[in-house]
Amino acid sequence: MIDFFVLSAAGGFAMYWFFFRNKKQDQPTFKKLTVTPVVERGSSSGFINKMKNTNRNVVVFYGSQTGTAEEFATRLAKDATRYGMKGMVADPEECDMEDLSQLTEIENSLVIFCLATYGEGDPTDNAQEFYDYLQGGGTDLDGIKYAVFALGNKTYEHFNAMGKYVDSRLEELGATRLIEVGLGDDDSNIEEDFVSWREKFWPIVCEHFGVQATGDDSSIRQYSLQVNEDLPKEKIYHGEISRLGSFNVQKPPYDAKNPFLAPIIANRELHKGGDRSCMHIELDITGSKIRYESGDHVAVYPMNDPDIVERIGKRLETDLDTVITLTNVDEEASKKHPFPNPTSYRTALTHYLDIQSPPRTHILRELAEYAEDPKEKEFLMSMTSSDGKDKYNDWIVKDHRNILAILDDLKSLKPPMDHICEMLPRLQARYYSISSSPKIHPTSIHITAVLISYTTRTGRSVKGVATKWLADKPVTDGKTYTVPIFVRKSQFRLPFKPSTPVIMIGPGTGLAPFRGFLQERDYLKKEGKPVGETILYFGCRYKAQDFIYEEEINQYLKNGSLTKLHIAFSRDQKEKVYVQHLLNKNKEEIWRLLENGGHIYVCGDARNMAREVHDMLERSVIEQGNLDATKAAEYIKKLQSKGRYSCDVW
Ligand code: FAD
Repeated sequence: MIDFFVLSAAGGFAMYWFFFRNKKQDQPTFKKLTVTPVVERGSSSGFINKMKNTNRNVVVFYGSQTGTAEEFATRLAKDATRYGMKGMVADPEECDMEDLSQLTEIENSLVIFCLATYGEGDPTDNAQEFYDYLQGGGTDLDGIKYAVFALGNKTYEHFNAMGKYVDSRLEELGATRLIEVGLGDDDSNIEEDFVSWREKFWPIVCEHFGVQATGDDSSIRQYSLQVNEDLPKEKIYHGEISRLGSFNVQKPPYDAKNPFLAPIIANRELHKGGDRSCMHIELDITGSKIRYESGDHVAVYPMNDPDIVERIGKRLETDLDTVITLTNVDEEASKKHPFPNPTSYRTALTHYLDIQSPPRTHILRELAEYAEDPKEKEFLMSMTSSDGKDKYNDWIVKDHRNILAILDDLKSLKPPMDHICEMLPRLQARYYSISSSPKIHPTSIHITAVLISYTTRTGRSVKGVATKWLADKPVTDGKTYTVPIFVRKSQFRLPFKPSTPVIMIGPGTGLAPFRGFLQERDYLKKEGKPVGETILYFGCRYKAQDFIYEEEINQYLKNGSLTKLHIAFSRDQKEKVYVQHLLNKNKEEIWRLLENGGHIYVCGDARNMAREVHDMLERSVIEQGNLDATKAAEYIKKLQSKGRYSCDVW
C-alpha cells in the first residue's frame, strides 16, 4: 500500500502530545488505545511473534485495492477491544502466511480476513501471494478459528470470488469457520452489508470464546496529534505519496508509491454539443522511462477541490496551514501514520483524504460524539446500526452527503480537525483505460474521460474529484500543469498474431482502449503485416453530439484498418438502441468470427452494458452453434480462459 513512509524529521521538533488540541470543556473524551508494552519473547519478526509479544489474540488480514477492505479490517481490529480481546491488522503481503497454523499457540485466537475481489475474479495485488500459496497447497489449519468478509461487486461475473475461495479453502485445510462468509456488494451498499455481518459476527465470537462486550462503546483514537511549528518547507510533505521531496526531484522507476509528474500537453473537448463533457487528455512521458502497452491502465492521483477544503477549514474554525504529525499510538502497528506526515491540514485535505465520498457509518458514530445538540447526536447514532440502514441510505447515500454537507446540515457538530483527518479514508488514485498505442505515441499516454457532474436531491452541485481537477487544467492558459501518474499493466491485450480477427465492443468512454487497439492495427497494416478482420461496436446518445473520435474512426474505416463499424445512437430515434441490440442482429457474424479463432473485447459500463453483452453473446452461441445453455456457458468460459473474451469494465 501507499501508506508506508519514513518519518525522518519527527525527533528534532517540539512535540505536543495530546488528543484534543483546542479541547473545549464540553467535548467528549476519547479512549486512548491501550497497548501492552512490548515484551521480547522471540527473535522472529513474524506476525505470530508480534501477536505474542503484544498480547494480541485477533489478527485481521486484508486484501485491498482501493482501501475499503483495509478500512473494514481496521474497524474489526478496533472492535475486538470492545470484547476484551486485542486485535491487529496485517497485510498478507508482509507476512509469512505459512505461520497461520501457529495461531493455535495463542489462547482464544481468531483470524479474520477482509478480502476484496478485483477485476475478473482476481485477488488484490497484496493478496496474490497468499492466494497462490493456498492454491499451491497451504498447510494444516486444524484448530484455527476464522471468519471471512468478502468485498466485491455483483455486476461482475465473479462476484466475491476471492473471499469465497479463501473461505472454503480454509475449511478444507481444517480450520473452523465461525460465521458464514459475509458478502459485501459495492454495487448496492457495502457499508450496510458490512455492518449487518459485523452485528451477527461479534455475538458468535462472544459465545464461542466465552467473552463479553465490555460495555465501553466510546470511540478509540488511533493517532496522537503533534503540531510542528517552524518546520522548514523541505521537511513537510506537499502531496508526495511516499518519498519526501519526490515531487521536486523525480527519479525512476515510477509506480504507485513514486508517481511520475506528467505534463498535460493536450486537453480538448470531444463532445460537439449537449451539456455533458468528455475530455481527450495527453500526458507527456518523455524521459520518464515509463513503458505501456495498448490496453493498460494509467492511474492518476487527483487533488480535491480547494474550495471544498477551504470551506471545511472555515466550518471547523481551523488554520489550514497548521503543520501536523499524526502518529499511531500503537507502536507495533505497521501503519504508523494515516497519510504522509508531517504535513499541513490543507495538504492532508487536498491530497490525502477522501472528502467527497459519503462517509461510512463508523465515521457518523465518531462524529456523533461531537454533536452538542442531543437530537443531532441521536440522529447520527440512529444511522449506525443495521436498524438504521434505510435512514443511512436515504440521508447519506441517496443525498450524496459528504463530510462538508454533514457539517453544514448539522450545525452543532464541532469535531476537531485532527480527528476528521484520522477518520476520513485515503483519497484513491483514479484509473483510466489508456486510449493510445505506444507504437504511434511512445512518449505520451492518452486518456478519454467523461466529466462527472450532477446535482443531488438537496440541490448541491457535485463534480467528480479527478475529472473536475483534470478539466481545470487547460493547455491554453500558458501554464504547464502536471499530473502524478503510474501505469498499471492489464490483461486486456490484442491477440499475439495481428491476423487474428477481433470484435471490440465499447460504447461511450468504453471506446478508450479500442482507440489504442485501432492505432496499433493501423500501424501494423501500414507496416505490411497481415491484419485480420477488425470490427467495432460503438454507442453514444446522438451522432451530432457525443460520437467521440468520429473523424479518426472514419479514417480507419476508409483505409481498411477498421473492417466494420456498428454504431448505436441511442437517442437519435424514438426507440432506444444500444450496442447489445446490434449484437443481437449480428449473431451470425459473431459466431463466424469466433469459429475462426477471433477475440472479443468489451469495455465500459459494468452495471448494464457488459452484462447484457454477455447474455447476447451466450444467445449467439446457443442459436448459431446449436448448443444448449450449459454447453454455451462452457464454450464462453473456455473463450475467457484462453484470453479470447476479455472485459475491461468499471
Ligand atoms: P468521483 O469523485 O470519484 O465521483 C464518482 C462517483 O460519483 C460515482 O462513483 C458515483 O457514486 C457518483 N456519481 C457519478 N455520477 C452520478 C450521478 N449522475 N448521480 C449521482 N451520483 C453520481 N473513466 C473514464 O471516463 N474513462 C476511462 O477510460 C476509464 N477507465 C477506467 C478503467 C478502470 C480499470 C477503472 C476502475 C475505472 C475507469 N474509469 C474510466 C472510471 C474512472 O476511474 C473514475 O472513476 C471516473 O473518472 C470518476 O472519477 P472522479 O474522481 O471524477 O469522480
